[in-house]
Amino acid sequence: MDRSIAYLNGTFLPSNEVVLSPNDLGICRGYGVFDYLRTYDSVPFMVSRHMERFLRSCSALDLELGQSVEELCSLIDRLHGLNGRRDCAFRLIATGGESTDHFSLTGSPSLIILSEELPQMNTDSFLTGVSLITADHLRIFPEAKTTNYAPAIRYSREWKKVGAIDALYTFDGEVLEATRSNFFLVKGNTLVTAKDRILEGITRRLVLELAFPDFDVQVRRMDIAELAEADEAFLTGTTKKITPVVTIDGRPIGAGVPGPKTRELMARFDAFVADYAESRVGTKEVDSINHANLSHPPGVR
Ligand code: PMP
Repeated sequence: MDRSIAYLNGTFLPSNEVVLSPNDLGICRGYGVFDYLRTYDSVPFMVSRHMERFLRSCSALDLELGQSVEELCSLIDRLHGLNGRRDCAFRLIATGGESTDHFSLTGSPSLIILSEELPQMNTDSFLTGVSLITADHLRIFPEAKTTNYAPAIRYSREWKKVGAIDALYTFDGEVLEATRSNFFLVKGNTLVTAKDRILEGITRRLVLELAFPDFDVQVRRMDIAELAEADEAFLTGTTKKITPVVTIDGRPIGAGVPGPKTRELMARFDAFVADYAESRVGTKEVDSINHANLSHPPGVR
């Protein structure tokens, strides 16, 4: 049984006592947003960036939490201390709150924060790469992390049938993102990732920063036809980190094995994570990259 401590609307309580009313718009209309982050070496990773994105997702749905990035960061710290787990993940959920007519935003938003075990990762994926299927779909409010993953859960049946691990969303001839991660392709020394109609992943942004200035970075519309021409491809996400993609819809990407550019970025990511945890232990530093003179590639916020 999960005995972790959670946070609900101003109170810390056992997670099995977190209850939302059926009249909450999150329950009766699927009106809500969330965010998800993890620790490395007991340090919450890029917590400020996650909290900024969480508040942006809230704004996209007109949810006024009345909490600042700093306040949310200290709630995470409190919860981390209360649970005493060295490494864990945190899930923040904001919903529309109780509604008198099951439609209008008449109440205050609900805020839940859960401390969870880290999910088990199949470490072979990093070595051998993974397979994807494509699915034609555009997420609603794509720039926000809404709680509606119904299409993804429905598509999971299809990808499991063919031994793939995820679906890559395409729309209007464009490659967007996977159901829970962002997507990059590599052609020569060029990295390409979608610019619009996606969730701006925290890992995606970090990878763009880590690629600078040695890679030619293009944040732009990516046409489906480009998949056939790619040398390499990979996913980025909090759980997947950088995961090489070796086939899409059964067709190999490049040589059909994790490529050297992907492996170079994976090494940079691991080094950054190791350094991040070491330099942040016991400090309250905000998340900024320490590279001198780093300027953001175009399209990166
Ligand atoms: N896109 C979607 C739709 C996601 O759910 C996620 C997971 N949060 C991502 C991209 C990757 O984001 P991050 O790197 O912040 O985990």
